[in-house]
Amino acid sequence: MSTAPSPTRTPDQDWAAYVADFRRAAHQAVDWAAEYLEHVRDYPVVPRLNPGDLTDSLPSSAPDRGESFDDILRDFDSKILPAVTHWNHPRFMAYFACTGSTPAIIAEMLSATLNTNGLHWKTSPAVAELEQVALGWLRQWMGLPDDYFGIIYDTASVSSLHAIACAREMADPDARVNGSTPNLVLYTSQESHSSIEKAAICLGIGQKNVRKVPSDAEFRMRVDALDQLIQKDLAAGLRPFCVVATVGTTSSTSVDPVAPIADVAARHNLWLHIDAAYAGIAAILPEHQHILAGAERAHSLVVNPHKWMFTPVDLSAFYTRYPDILRRAFSLTAEYLYTADNTRQLNLMDYGVPLGRRFRSLKLWFLMRYFGRECIQQVLRNHIAWADRLAKQIEADSRFELSAPHPFSVVCFRYKGTDAENKAILEAANATGEVFLSSTVLNGKVVLRVAIGNLGTTWDDVNRAWELVKQAADHRQ
Ligand code: PLP
Repeated sequence: MSTAPSPTRTPDQDWAAYVADFRRAAHQAVDWAAEYLEHVRDYPVVPRLNPGDLTDSLPSSAPDRGESFDDILRDFDSKILPAVTHWNHPRFMAYFACTGSTPAIIAEMLSATLNTNGLHWKTSPAVAELEQVALGWLRQWMGLPDDYFGIIYDTASVSSLHAIACAREMADPDARVNGSTPNLVLYTSQESHSSIEKAAICLGIGQKNVRKVPSDAEFRMRVDALDQLIQKDLAAGLRPFCVVATVGTTSSTSVDPVAPIADVAARHNLWLHIDAAYAGIAAILPEHQHILAGAERAHSLVVNPHKWMFTPVDLSAFYTRYPDILRRAFSLTAEYLYTADNTRQLNLMDYGVPLGRRFRSLKLWFLMRYFGRECIQQVLRNHIAWADRLAKQIEADSRFELSAPHPFSVVCFRYKGTDAENKAILEAANATGEVFLSSTVLNGKVVLRVAIGNLGTTWDDVNRAWELVKQAADHRQ
């Protein structure tokens, strides 16, 4: 039985008892986690509860007296768990499927145990150096050039914010002091992620200065349209400064033509950022490395191991060939934090907004070592092959049609009926609790998405998702 601390029994008074309490509860928690992972399929992927149910089941204020781990773990099981959407479920196929894999789970626990904070090199050499090592390994796996400097942020949204800040720094170095000039213009495709527009809002570029370049029939940025928009803006006295290409768009996973976009960027001296948040990981496969052709001429790139590389949220890898510009954009060292910076003693606080930096690279390092490149390649290949197999089955059913090419592990398709019917099919399939699929809009029509990407997913899971969709179509209203 665990005994909670109290005002007369604070941890410092009996540190050994405090740690013993932890040891017992942590073993229990690890047993719970293993049990969970073993039987994760027994849970409905999406919880069945009403908004506010969890809030109403919990006390409205925190306890004055500490409670035992047993009580806390019991409530975790009985109250919190039923409100969890199981992103670690092999049949979670909504948005982009992902995985908190076991080596990374262990690393997260160790990272919290150390609680080391990499403000600058001296505050945690391990954080500063392992981040460079792990991101160097990932860069090699993806076939990116050696001159790409890597840094970890929490999300792709924040990585792209930093990319666009670099672009502004390159075009308008006085913006740091004076604020953004009003005539900077950013280009990205109409299919790009909302984080790009959000970054423009945050950096004072303004939504009206974000050009959504039209896409072609396969949802890829049209380079001729990009060129035309730039010419028009130049003629109007505006200053094009940045273009963001997407490798693996959020809706359909289309791939913008990076190399021709790089030509345009070079012609107009634009910062080229590649948002490869989901699909960049596919470049670990030699047969898919072509998706990053042209990246050697880009200024920056983001890829999210927390999407398709079995890393629990959060871990976004940001790479730039111009770390000096990133540093110029963000270094602002208070006297109390001053410390030397050289290539072997990086102060990561100078390369972005956050000062504090948790030990995220530990989980990447653990999992890259545990799985190795070949196992990860095989899992990615399976996911891509199953997406293709699913697409063939969809094509063979005359009631359905594919809505986009499927270059990776996501298939977009629709029932040949109304938007309302497609939404009803989605709702019905998800209501079984056996699967979680999502939808998007392509060419103005609602389409269903099956996103394969969880480490535990098998072909049978994918096939079951398809059966549930077909059954829902059979019984549609
Ligand atoms: N970029 C793309 C292409 C995405 O698909 C997503 C999310 O799905 C993001 C950026 C945002 O990712 P994050 O949640 O890491 O900010």
